[in-house]
Amino acid sequence: MRKRIIFAGILGLGAVLVILGAWYLLTQRQAKVCPFSGRGIHPQTRALVTIGGRKYETCCVRCAIIEARQTGKPLQILKVADFQTSKLLNPKNAWFVEGSAVNLCMSMSPAAESPGREGVYLRGFDRCSPSALAFSSEEQARAFIAEHGGVLRRLEDLQRESKSTVPQVKKP
Ligand SMILES: [Zn+2]
Repeated sequence: MRKRIIFAGILGLGAVLVILGAWYLLTQRQAKVCPFSGRGIHPQTRALVTIGGRKYETCCVRCAIIEARQTGKPLQILKVADFQTSKLLNPKNAWFVEGSAVNLCMSMSPAAESPGREGVYLRGFDRCSPSALAFSSEEQARAFIAEHGGVLRRLEDLQRESKSTVPQVKKP
């Protein structure tokens, strides 16, 4: 009888731990933020990348491009969210719309400062701008441009942008 109570107690404790663990994982997931902008990660624009060989999940491709430019480290885009379905796409097959009127990151919250990088701060600079949204087909991307503006880009274009240098503000 006593053994049974102890057994039930252990089982109950285990169940509580599992529930707590699941709750923790779920809330952690919701609280996911971009390591660079400090913004919440929007499922329609998120990207999986490596910068200098380290893996990150960012709020958008742009944020990763800016980080690569500011640090001079090589960027590899591994996956990008399809703007329409939020499914992760192989960026090689994606069609990007750059600089449209839609920017989900900027509609969320202001980006964090880039401490220690004041030299690259520009007036009106936002590390999530111009937006670069991914689509699974050229037709979808072109239809989006017709409605919201922007230009069509492929992965090579974005990779090239990640390597160009940021204009430095000259100190007087
Ligand atoms: Zn962003």
